[in-house]
Parts: sequence; C-alpha cells; structure tokens
Amino acid sequence: MATSCEKMKKIQGHPCFGGNHHKNGRMHLAVAPKCNIKCGYCTRRHDCANESRPGVTSRLLSPEEAIVRVREVMASPVTGPIIKVIGIAGPGDPLFNEETFETFRLVDREFPDLIKCMSTNGLLLPDKMPVLKALGLHSLTVTLNTLDPEIGGRIYSYVHYRGTTYSGKEAGEILVHNQLEGIRQAAELGMTIKINTVLIPGVNDSQIPLISKQVKELGAFVMNIMPLIPQADFAHIEPPSAERLDALRSDNEKTIGQFKHCKQCRADAVGLIGENLQLAVATAD
Ligand code: SF4
Ligand code: SF4
Ligand code: SF4
Repeated sequence: MATSCEKMKKIQGHPCFGGNHHKNGRMHLAVAPKCNIKCGYCTRRHDCANESRPGVTSRLLSPEEAIVRVREVMASPVTGPIIKVIGIAGPGDPLFNEETFETFRLVDREFPDLIKCMSTNGLLLPDKMPVLKALGLHSLTVTLNTLDPEIGGRIYSYVHYRGTTYSGKEAGEILVHNQLEGIRQAAELGMTIKINTVLIPGVNDSQIPLISKQVKELGAFVMNIMPLIPQADFAHIEPPSAERLDALRSDNEKTIGQFKHCKQCRADAVGLIGENLQLAVATAD
C-alpha cells in the first residue's frame, strides 16, 4: 500500500476527492452491467445513480475494449495530459462484475501511474477486499444512504447476497453491515474513501449527521451528499432544494469534509468534471 506522502500526492491528483478539478480529469470505463441490489431511485434503464446522471446510458465495454479506449485517450493530446484517474462506476455495481477486476488488471499493466478508483453500493466490499488489495485500488466511493436497517428496507426493495434474495429490514441489515465493515477494512488498508449519500427527503434526512459521524470515525476522507432525482419508486418525492443541500453540507462540514462540485457524471465520462470529451476520442464506436 502507498505511503502517506504518496497517498497525499494521489489525492491532490484526484478531481473527486478535492484535487484540482480544473486541471485533473478522470476516465470512466462502463464495464460493469449487473447489480445485486435494487435502490428505490434506480430505473435500471440508465447508469447506476450512485455516481451517474440519470437519462443517459453508457455504451458497455468489455475489458479488452476498455483498454483499447484507455490507450486512445492517453495517446490523445487533448485528453492524455489531463487524465489522472481511471474510475469504474457502473452502469451496475462494479464489485458484482468480474469484468471490473480484469479491466483494472489490464490498466495497471500498461498505465501503472493512473489512479484506480471504484464506486460501489458496498454489499460485496468485505468479500472482495482481498482482490481490491491485490489490485492496489487507491480510491473507493461507497454509497451509504442510511445506518438504520428499517430505513434501508424502505430504500432498497431487495438485496441479493451469496445466492439469497432478502427484502425489508433483513435486506437493510445485511447491506448496512457490509458497507460499514467494508469501509473499515478499506480505511485500514489505506484506501482514500468517499461516501456518497443520496438525500431522499422524508426518508433518510435524519440519517445524514449520523452517517457523517460514523464514516469519519471509520476513516472516510470526504462525503458527497447528492440530491434525489425523483424516479422509479421515489418518483413522487419532491427533490431537495439547492439551499437545503447547501445548509446540510455546511452543517456536516464540521464532522467530515464535503465534496461540493459533483456533477453526477455518466459511467463513461472522460475529461474534466463538468465537461465530457468523449466525442474527441470516440474513434472506437
Ligand atoms: Fe441502481 Fe446503482 Fe442502486 Fe444498483 S446500486 S440499484 S445500479 S442505483
Ligand atoms: Fe472515482 Fe467515483 Fe469519481 Fe468516478 S465518479 S472517478 S469512480 S470517485
Ligand atoms: Fe466526480 Fe461526481 Fe463525476 Fe463522480 S459523478 S466523477 S464524484 S463529479
């Protein structure tokens, strides 16, 4: 694992962890189609809402296609100099797809200096931690929407774990337990951890301060409170206003640093946050 000095250098290069997002970009590889849980805000027609803007679907790549795309992007004078991070964030859950690990292996072999980053619902984190350790994953984002299994039962209509499908409080219990244990283990291994929390008004508002305190204690680096995009089971819920979100972030900033410029990028975004340069490099389509 990286020394604390190397780790700090890498954080500074990571646009999603407070690094200079006007200078450093990330490349997402959409290699992970399947998901093992069902979030109430997910339509499954689009990219995983944990990191992505709904309404757009990424073109799925195989690991072999993904490495070809990375070579193109790194060779391009437009994108090559700015891409510092390779992220796998969907369109389903990266840990539930073997393609994720294969892709990281391929990237590491040719581009060992790129920061390997992954975003997950966290269900399989304890099971897959040895693989992530062996891969040298640097940054990890976990979407943690509640600490309370009852509330979890309302947010997740099911959790599919080790061959069994759970619902209600039982689903919440398994998911929350694995998320927290996974965050603890990842912090112990020295990974840089971001927590995404989707604010679902009337459902998990009370959980936000509890989550920020708990994840700080477990060793997370930054928190990203994201507004609900009303769709699927939560289509009837009014999304939080920008003012409400700002106030909540300010309140929780004292507990853990808040990431405020998330643009909910798509699972195949390339370039600086807020820009999408994929047209410049989309020669493989
Ligand atoms: Fe959808 Fe992502 Fe939730 Fe899976 S983890 S149900 S893909 S939002
Ligand atoms: Fe990593 Fe998530 Fe940012 Fe992608 S969106 S680079 S997976 S933190
Ligand atoms: Fe970064 Fe947010 Fe985009 Fe992820 S979705 S790359 S956290 S800006």
